[in-house]
Amino acid sequence: MTLLDKLPSALFEIGKLIGSDLDPGILLSRIAELICQLIDAKSCSVMLLDAKRERLLAKAAYGLRTERMHSLSFRVGEGVAGWVVEHGESAMINDVAADSRFVQLPLNQTPISSMLCVPLIARGERVGCVTATSERTGAFGQADLEIVRFIAMTIALDIENVRLHRVAVTDPLTGAYNREFLMTRLPQEIEAAIERDRTLSVAMVDVDHFKAVNDQYGHGIGDVVLAEVARRLRSAIRAGDLLVRYGGEEFLVVLPKADAGRAWEVGERMRQRVCERAFDVGDGMALLLRISVGIAQWRLNEKMLGLIERADVALYDAKDRGRNRVEVAP
Ligand code: GH3
Ligand code: MG
Ligand code: MG
Repeated sequence: MTLLDKLPSALFEIGKLIGSDLDPGILLSRIAELICQLIDAKSCSVMLLDAKRERLLAKAAYGLRTERMHSLSFRVGEGVAGWVVEHGESAMINDVAADSRFVQLPLNQTPISSMLCVPLIARGERVGCVTATSERTGAFGQADLEIVRFIAMTIALDIENVRLHRVAVTDPLTGAYNREFLMTRLPQEIEAAIERDRTLSVAMVDVDHFKAVNDQYGHGIGDVVLAEVARRLRSAIRAGDLLVRYGGEEFLVVLPKADAGRAWEVGERMRQRVCERAFDVGDGMALLLRISVGIAQWRLNEKMLGLIERADVALYDAKDRGRNRVEVAP
């Protein structure tokens, strides 16, 4: 099939993908796959700039092995991708061996002879690039370049909106959702529980004696420790659960579909994950930390704030009863 034969259905497919609420990583991988089919590329990757706009990191790829994808990264100005983002211009290379911009990565196992690379530009800002490669020299032509440019233009704004949304709803220190997000999301979760006739629980988590960490090691180390606490809490919950930074060293975990018993198990698992290994506080020193957890299962007709309040009371129960434990609200 020629490019023109494949084009209509591929564009329709891309439009459908963009309108869907797929996870952004999966969406981009599907688009990378479609680009490969459309222009007969061996691999296609989507790289985005980091928050400091200094490095390009691969966010999705097709035709590469996953472990390679995560190691794919260029500084702005480095390699073909870095050149494209630095200049805001596309590159079409018939033979990479004859192009000084091309950097052969030591880990590179997918043989590359020719490539196309197109910048992703959203609201006038360069946000990343789309790269397609082939093992053959001279594999791509002007029409292939135009197609990838068109697709890049179509997805760039969408990608940028996802990024802006993520920044708006997350706490920068811990990567957990912020409280503003909780205030819009928890009522929706409660609505969903009512509609589907199922339950929901929340867990309020507070680090025990955290003030002493700051007092002993300083606020900077306290911050590092807090970020690690968040990682451990996240490792103890499922994909559909929400970890929210509720206050300073307090987290609220929303557990859709979980009854109090299930939520207690999750609370116990979180408690274990935090206390089972020491935290690195620099200079070869280590610190042990514990958490207390209060669980509340949503009651029919209960509002969000009432539910949170009961989890908070259960948390203070756990503190009163000696800390390092999980209590369930009656
Ligand atoms: P306990 O909860 O067991 O009663 O004792 P605690 O020492 O943890 O007491 P409390 O929860 O009242 O105090 C929390 C402390 O956490 C106070 C503050 O210094 C520290 N903290 C809150 N937010 C942050 C933060 O973002 N970074 C750092 N480093 N410390 C924080
Ligand atoms: Mg505390
Ligand atoms: Mg506290």
